[in-house]
Amino acid sequence: MILDLTSFLDSKELTCDYRFVVDKTKVEVDKSIVLTDDVTCDVLVSKVDGNLFANVAMTYKYEENCARCNKPFVHMVNTAFEVAIDIEDDDALTVNMKQDTINLNDAISEMIYLTKPIKVLCHEECKGICTKCGSNKNHEICNCDENKVDPRFQELIKLLDKEV
Ligand SMILES: [Zn+2]
Ligand SMILES: [Zn+2]
Repeated sequence: MILDLTSFLDSKELTCDYRFVVDKTKVEVDKSIVLTDDVTCDVLVSKVDGNLFANVAMTYKYEENCARCNKPFVHMVNTAFEVAIDIEDDDALTVNMKQDTINLNDAISEMIYLTKPIKVLCHEECKGICTKCGSNKNHEICNCDENKVDPRFQELIKLLDKEV
């Protein structure tokens, strides 16, 4: 995704809005992240004391498995970040300007890696899976006495429920 800042830099405006959509197939993330939709970004570029900054509000959707019931679903993340443009600063995301354009592709990939949650639930009230028969309790009512847990399932449940 290349932003052309030429007209903004030539103008006296201090800020400029850009809205764009990045084709999901053009976003460079590894195979563990399967994007289900194009990534949308609202970018506000500002001139501050001779420096340039881009504030980016980004939304992406990807395939995830519920950390409690293991069902596949689509999870959406909204995130916002600031990028310094052509400024050497190790603590901030920095992009370089070439011919009055900036390329935000690396920043977008980096922010997906940084903001993708480690574990998410298909929905807040997910009942998970029965520790005894393994059925998905959101869809099935089983008559198991879960106090008598099959140890193999118990280990699985512990694993799935960790840090949720
Ligand atoms: Zn679930
Ligand atoms: Zn059961």
